[in-house]
Amino acid sequence: SLPTIYVVTPTYARLVQKAELTRLSLTLLHVPRLHWIVVEDSPQPTPLVRDLLAVSGLAYTHLHVPTPKDMKLQEKDPTWLKPRGVEQRNEAMRWLREMAAAAAVEQAVVYFADDDNTYSLKVFEEMRFTQRVSVWPVGLVGGMRYEGPVVENGKVVRFHTGWRPSRPFPIDMAGFAVSLRLVVAHPGARFDRSAQIGFLESSLLQGLVTMKELEPKADMCTKILVWHTRTEKPKIKREEIMQKQGMGSDL
Ligand code: UDP
Ligand code: MN
Repeated sequence: SLPTIYVVTPTYARLVQKAELTRLSLTLLHVPRLHWIVVEDSPQPTPLVRDLLAVSGLAYTHLHVPTPKDMKLQEKDPTWLKPRGVEQRNEAMRWLREMAAAAAVEQAVVYFADDDNTYSLKVFEEMRFTQRVSVWPVGLVGGMRYEGPVVENGKVVRFHTGWRPSRPFPIDMAGFAVSLRLVVAHPGARFDRSAQIGFLESSLLQGLVTMKELEPKADMCTKILVWHTRTEKPKIKREEIMQKQGMGSDL
């Protein structure tokens, strides 16, 4: 049977959360043998996410872990200041290792899919038969039209990136998938919260593979199958004015 794809999505409460998770769930519904691990950045699971998952039609696991307060990006901080979704992705890997220890692990792959990106259906089929770590380009990221591995003679030899190409793995979170077997074989491998800016992906991958071992997908990394889109923060000034006038709504 087809290897299962475990899609790990950190998520947090804000105005667009339900819209983002709705859109992502609709993409995932088209993918066979997929299990969605949604990890809320919250001290408790929320009804919003619980209810959305319950009616999603997907196989899923609902987890939660709050980001420590001093690690949380503040309203005024530039977005690059602190890495986001770190504890949540690590919590998912903890669950995966525990799950794999309890049941005989079949071939499976783990993909870290943020709630706001845009995923083609093809990217999932590209990653499905990952042996160790597979890689492909990501569109609209890092101040570039795309970033991605450069392949020569079937092997990744360097990375096309606009910033610090000397990083061990200058790859966006959306640009790689890891076999579950490898995650289980390296119980200490995790995302390092204290990694330097831009080194979060490297902090995990360094513990798992070398550049030579990367498996290039998407026609030798020549196709863009996923985009690091970001959603504009909605302006709700009118809403606040209405509230003050006593014309608010509870919806
Ligand atoms: N995220 C989170 N807690 C936060 C901020 C972000 O769990 O405080 C999640 C978010 O929902 C997304 C992922 O972490 O799935 C990456 O965040 P974001 O998309 O804001 O990062 P960027 O696109 O700016 O790199
Ligand atoms: Mn994002």
